[in-house]
Amino acid sequence: MNRDGISRRDWLKTTGSVGASCLLGGLAVSGPMAAENTSCSWEASVTRLRLRHTWTTTMSSSEYRDTIQVRLASDGVIGIGEGAPIVRYHESAEDGKKAIESISPFLQGVNPWQFEKVMAEVSQKVQGQFAAKAALDVALMDWVGKKLNVPLYRMLGLDPNDTPITTFSVGIDNPESTRQKVLEAEAFPVLKIKVGLNTDEATIAAVRSATKKPLRVDANEGWKDKEEAVRKINWLETQGVEFVEQPMPAEMIEETRWVRRRVHLPIIADEAAVNAAAIPKLVDAYDGINVKLDKCGGVQQALRMIYVAKSLGMKTMLGCMVSSSVSVTASAHLSPLVDYADLDGNLLIANDPYRGVQVRNGKLVLGDGPGLGVKPA
Ligand code: MG
Repeated sequence: MNRDGISRRDWLKTTGSVGASCLLGGLAVSGPMAAENTSCSWEASVTRLRLRHTWTTTMSSSEYRDTIQVRLASDGVIGIGEGAPIVRYHESAEDGKKAIESISPFLQGVNPWQFEKVMAEVSQKVQGQFAAKAALDVALMDWVGKKLNVPLYRMLGLDPNDTPITTFSVGIDNPESTRQKVLEAEAFPVLKIKVGLNTDEATIAAVRSATKKPLRVDANEGWKDKEEAVRKINWLETQGVEFVEQPMPAEMIEETRWVRRRVHLPIIADEAAVNAAAIPKLVDAYDGINVKLDKCGGVQQALRMIYVAKSLGMKTMLGCMVSSSVSVTASAHLSPLVDYADLDGNLLIANDPYRGVQVRNGKLVLGDGPGLGVKPA
């Protein structure tokens, strides 16, 4: 007898038939036994996303990005997930795909209804590879939402009308291209500007030559000297900037605390806030945190980060990497919980294979489809 009180032989029969329903995509298997003994088929692949503009931050410059796509087929339903590897943490899509393949026997035997337990076990089995974990977690969330026939935001008890506006990001470029990108982003009421190199003044001047909109600034750990950081942040305050993200390197928490005492603008942690456990030591050094599924390993860890930050009185923000509408839509489902959103990664690519969350006058608009509610483009 197994833990559900049925004989091993019957159990094999049940999982066998559910497995067949995955492959045949329609053989009806219903009832509690089928639900509890669901077997899964998982597929991980790498998708190349072409960028509309060459994308430059303090960390890298590129014309395309590869993301890990995951497809979970079980009990007649397919869940899709995506994770975008972050160069900062030495991740690549190929390594993420290999990490998923390395635990393939385990994944085939999981019960996707137990998504919390599944991801806890994945975390035990795989070191690092947070984009791969995010892809698995998002596929589980999509699958469960589809099985329950409710959108992910409803599973989480959230009101889709509470979504924030999203900023549109402008990468580091020469002044003329920066100005052009700002003009192209006319539909967005707030912009996020990447700085952190020695061209910051010219970048902001180029932005301000094209718009008076509020700006949010991301230095991506670019300022290494605390006095320089204070000087830059206080100057940015005179330029209509609302907050500054990750002014100094993540490990310089003490220096960032020193900086924060000398500026008025809120400081948001991104690279310093990798997961929920990292947040308590950031109190007093930062006013808030930027949560990304790809950085922390998926929806479940992102929720933990948001709740920990809120309980410590910190602001919360959802960000993203360059990715398709799968990953960005998954994040958007959590966005009714946060103060700020920077969920534009799908808008930066020219070949999005999917269609999901939309943006109207800057506001994130979620559909009412089950799970992520994402469809092929
Ligand atoms: Mg950032």
